[in-house]
Amino acid sequence: MKAITIKKPGSAEALTLVEREKPVAKKGELLIRVKASAVNRTDTLKRQDPTLSEPYPILGVEAAGVVEENHSEDPSLAPGTRVAGIVNQGSYAEYVTIPADRAIVLPERLNFAEGAAIPEVFLTAYQTLYWLGKLEKGQTVLIHAGASGVGTAAIQLAKQLTEAIVIVTAGSQEKLDFCRKLGADKGINYKKENFADQVLEWTNQAGVDVILDFVGASYWQKNMKSIKKDGHWILIGTLGGHVVPEVDLLELMGKRITLAATLLTPRLDHYKAALTQEFVEKALPLLANGTIKPIIDTAFPLQKAAQAHQYMEENKNIGKIILTVE
Ligand code: NAP
Repeated sequence: MKAITIKKPGSAEALTLVEREKPVAKKGELLIRVKASAVNRTDTLKRQDPTLSEPYPILGVEAAGVVEENHSEDPSLAPGTRVAGIVNQGSYAEYVTIPADRAIVLPERLNFAEGAAIPEVFLTAYQTLYWLGKLEKGQTVLIHAGASGVGTAAIQLAKQLTEAIVIVTAGSQEKLDFCRKLGADKGINYKKENFADQVLEWTNQAGVDVILDFVGASYWQKNMKSIKKDGHWILIGTLGGHVVPEVDLLELMGKRITLAATLLTPRLDHYKAALTQEFVEKALPLLANGTIKPIIDTAFPLQKAAQAHQYMEENKNIGKIILTVE
């Protein structure tokens, strides 16, 4: 089969199209004929990982496609079924395996590109808003990188599942306008305004109950200022650095903040399965009836994975970047 790996760890040009053996599905797994995959920051980080050694892995953590072989006991996942889900690496390829208890049967209204735009960002958004962030009906959430893949999923879930008040930050008016169309109540251009001042002014100095933080170090002080007493601050990414030079723990204690950090990719299989199953029960019906939409910026053919990575690293996308497989 055709697959994308790296020539050696490095920039986007390191990505290369190769021929590899088809993966073999174990008991409890499905073999999927991939129709679409999607780009994630974890792939761009993996691509540069200096600890990788040959044979280099096939990249990609999510896919949508058709079940080719069902090695599980679930009859609803028979060959021919359209599914999507997070995989344990290897989705930039014509075939990939996935534990069957993590497969999401695609609702009829969604095509494969839309299916591939769901797993990683919607599951991360669901997990961080609800399992870690404990977001409750009517509470206020600050979602950074609002136009990102995860951000666009989180805005819709927070609005449609929880009727939350949603504040977003993003780096351009175009991105903020898009977030508003998805349901965000307030948008702040972090390049032009101090978001913490804006958050406090807009919430009558109360601050927010939950922060989804993809940025990390460069936002530390402003997040501290923006969060309410007893708030949940969820660290999901470190796009703005990972070393905070001066941390005053008393500030965290004074506000009784719950600070949680997470990475979905290295989580255990049973965690990913439980998260997928709850998501399917609570949120998939809203994707099936069109209330919530997978947001796709651009689709590149699999062979153009290098351009897709570069596009993401230039921060150009609103929503997901898809890789289509012929
Ligand atoms: P994405 O679609 O590539 O969007 C990221 C956006 O973040 C960029 O387009 C840019 O938009 C903004 N950004 C970049 N650098 C920034 C900085 N220094 N300060 C402020 N904003 C910055 O990303 P994604 O795939 O949704 O992922 C978003 C983040 O979540 C990534 O950090 C990713 O690694 C992380 N993630 C974590 C998990 C987990 O389990 N922990 C799972 C999935 C994703 P602007 O134009 O608005 O600046």
